Amino acid sequence: MQRLLFLFLDGVGLAPPSTDNPFSDSGHKTLHHLAHNQDWCRPFVPHSSALHLVRSLDATLGVEGLPQSGTGQASLFTGVNCAEQVGRHFGPFPHSDTHSALDTRNVFRQIQDLQSSSPLPAAFANAFPPQYFDASRRRSTVTTYCCSAASVPLRDISDLREGRALPADLTGTIWREHLNLDISEQSLETAAHTLGSIGQKHVCTLFEYFLTDKVGHRRIDTPPANLLTVLDTFLSALLDVLTPAHDTLLITSDHGNLEDTSHTQHTRNPVPLIVYGWAAPFFADATDLTDVTPSIVRALRSVL
Ligand SMILES: [Zn+2]
Repeated sequence: MQRLLFLFLDGVGLAPPSTDNPFSDSGHKTLHHLAHNQDWCRPFVPHSSALHLVRSLDATLGVEGLPQSGTGQASLFTGVNCAEQVGRHFGPFPHSDTHSALDTRNVFRQIQDLQSSSPLPAAFANAFPPQYFDASRRRSTVTTYCCSAASVPLRDISDLREGRALPADLTGTIWREHLNLDISEQSLETAAHTLGSIGQKHVCTLFEYFLTDKVGHRRIDTPPANLLTVLDTFLSALLDVLTPAHDTLLITSDHGNLEDTSHTQHTRNPVPLIVYGWAAPFFADATDLTDVTPSIVRALRSVL
């Protein structure tokens, strides 16, 4: 079976190397390898081969102002230009004018339509804490909205304890220290192993990593370089459990932020698109966020 693992990184753009850009000259071997032997900086030289594609994507969607997660993620996960639909960038939560696109065209729905016979074609690997389920008026993010519209179950603390989900920070430190939850802290290697094993059981698995955006906004006290070391270690362990002939690791973002630490806002920079594995050729013409979901669907349609 061919599978696709979608690692969504919030707030990662491509800027020229500078002392304000933690991606410059990082020495992070796996990030370098995934970008086909270059740092995640501009110029981001495109590469395309049967099992590996590297490009940059426009995240402004032809709309003025700073891109935001609500419209950026909605565009990424539907293939519809949601910023244009709303008339501006909006976020971080989904705008009501994008609900119809999210209801009917979200990537999980489109994959399920391809393979309705499989009970679990798509998965969202993030675990959500009890506080999230208890909140009486909880607000959906774009991804939880997509899950709800496609009946993709949200994973909880039991899934996390039993190795069927990942905490948003990969190790569980935030769950333990900030949410006071009784879970064991796990290594990045264990997190990678868990994501790999969820990915083995589904046609398409999404994991959302938003600490990149949080660090860019300086809402958490982690130096950007340390966060990139975490990401690099995790990705190295993840590549160890993937087989490019059967697995594809897709990495992209919704807008820039972390690549420019001279301020704490989003940027209008392009974002990286990295496709590592069999589905790479299906993304060869992708130029902006709206091209990601149609490429995923075309790739999976070819193998289902
Ligand atoms: Zn942000």
